[in-house]
Amino acid sequence: MPKFLNIILKNIGNMHHKKLEEDIYRYAVRNAFLHNGKASVKAVVGKILSLYKEAKAKDVVNLVAEVVEKVNSMTFEEIKREYDKFKHTYELKPKQKEKYLPELEWAKKEKVVTRFAPNPNAPFHIGNARAAILSYEYAKMYNGKFILRFDDTDPKIKKPLPNAEQLFKEDLSWLGCKVDETYFASDRLEIYYKYMKKLVEIGKAYVCVCDVEKWRELVKQNKACPCRSLDETAQMERLQKMFDHTYKEGQAVLRLKTDLMHKDPSVRDFWLARVVDNVQHPNPKVKDKHVWPSYNLASAIDDHLLGVTLILRGQEHEQNKTKQEFIYKYLGWVYPHCIHFGRLNLKGVVLSKSKIVEGIAKGLYTGFDDPRLGTIRALRRRGIQAEAIRKIILELGVKSSDATISIEKLYNINRDLIDPIADRVVFISNPMYLKIAGSVPLEVKLPKHPDIAARGFREYSLEKDATVIVSKDDIARVSLGEVFRLRKAYDVKLSNVEKSSAEAEFLSVERTNKKAKLLLWLHPNFCVNTVLVMDDGSTIEGLAERYIIEKSVGTIVQLEGFGYARIDKKDKERVVCYFSHK
Ligand SMILES: [Zn+2]
Repeated sequence: MPKFLNIILKNIGNMHHKKLEEDIYRYAVRNAFLHNGKASVKAVVGKILSLYKEAKAKDVVNLVAEVVEKVNSMTFEEIKREYDKFKHTYELKPKQKEKYLPELEWAKKEKVVTRFAPNPNAPFHIGNARAAILSYEYAKMYNGKFILRFDDTDPKIKKPLPNAEQLFKEDLSWLGCKVDETYFASDRLEIYYKYMKKLVEIGKAYVCVCDVEKWRELVKQNKACPCRSLDETAQMERLQKMFDHTYKEGQAVLRLKTDLMHKDPSVRDFWLARVVDNVQHPNPKVKDKHVWPSYNLASAIDDHLLGVTLILRGQEHEQNKTKQEFIYKYLGWVYPHCIHFGRLNLKGVVLSKSKIVEGIAKGLYTGFDDPRLGTIRALRRRGIQAEAIRKIILELGVKSSDATISIEKLYNINRDLIDPIADRVVFISNPMYLKIAGSVPLEVKLPKHPDIAARGFREYSLEKDATVIVSKDDIARVSLGEVFRLRKAYDVKLSNVEKSSAEAEFLSVERTNKKAKLLLWLHPNFCVNTVLVMDDGSTIEGLAERYIIEKSVGTIVQLEGFGYARIDKKDKERVVCYFSHK
């Protein structure tokens, strides 16, 4: 700790002075490191106030100014050395504030149990992310529990994916949602059977063997079918016939006695369980199970038995609450607290589960992480940060109105997060050689990041009469005889264009015309084949600065002239990037 920091502070109350001094120094070093050796007093004060909530700007500003002055007088090498020393101590991300979510009046610490209950028939996409993130955040806010419950009780139409657990858990973990307990509804069929029997025993459920159309006609007229009034013994016999598969698919259905006068016809005696003949389910334990519960039965029972106290889900579930409350009433249970939020429409990516699953089956998409899809893994592959998704969802909060967000909004949030970490890499599609007659030797130094000098430089030596690589598309926009500038190099005049090469005459290193077009270029000895996979699934082949190959898979770069991208694959000869956004 430099001597100048041994200052006795006043007016700071009971803060640890030593710690405060250290923090000011650490953040002055970081700020100087990130800004070309010049820290800003304002930025460091802001950082310190965010760490020491009880401090006021006037208490710390003089000390910060003094420290900043000393740090700024250090050489960049010294600053870098100090920065490296402290590197591991800086917070990587600002602490997540929970300001977006309203407090729950009823909630007590450790008593909030939430669940995310996806049907795993399609991968996790940003449309489900709202329920998952809000449920997790509320559990965390009250030190409660976050349950992942797979609603995999449709072995026929919405068949579960075989690797659902792995898919969802990876995505949830990437989003920062830590799962405390995991359940599969298909593991719990015996539990549902027990409650089916119970509801029959207490006279609240009946097995209907009527033709569905006829039953619907009756119910529309608020009339009961003949099955409803059979006694419990007869009902039990029928239920047994469902279990032993005497009744085949479509021949019998278990219904709850609700209210035949209910204003919503779908609530009237809604179904609890049905028979499925050919069970196709990835869970090996259920191959011979022919009775399958409805979503409303399984979900109602599990929420109660798993101790869920808060359900967060889309407004389309409002009607399910009405249905499930009948089950709760008959079984003497208390329905959990519910928050129904509006639908989140994200324009610009494919979100429909059926389109995703069908598209993959037909070979239209390459997989669940195809860049056209709105799945979490597709967004991740493209370099969208989990923090950006969380932010957009927490900003929407629990509003009950529907929200349509353009994907651009997500990109804007993401850009703020990735720009500081993305080194610049020139990428040239449709490359061609450009020979420059009469050019002088030149050393070109380009910062890896325009605002953060500390990230270093790319340096290229252009020889006399140099040849560089440019894009044919760029050259096509220049007329013969026109003057243009090779960025950070020199002005040249286009003199000849062939199929795969072009020639220009050297004019000057100084800029001669501010309006001259600026062309990106590559040094032919320092480039590598690069493929950019775009968000519409198309690919662009080209060449990029060779230093991209030193970066690891998963790194975000800015491909100059195109936009941000994530390095997806690489070998010695070739790099594949996925386009994020402009
Ligand atoms: Zn009936």
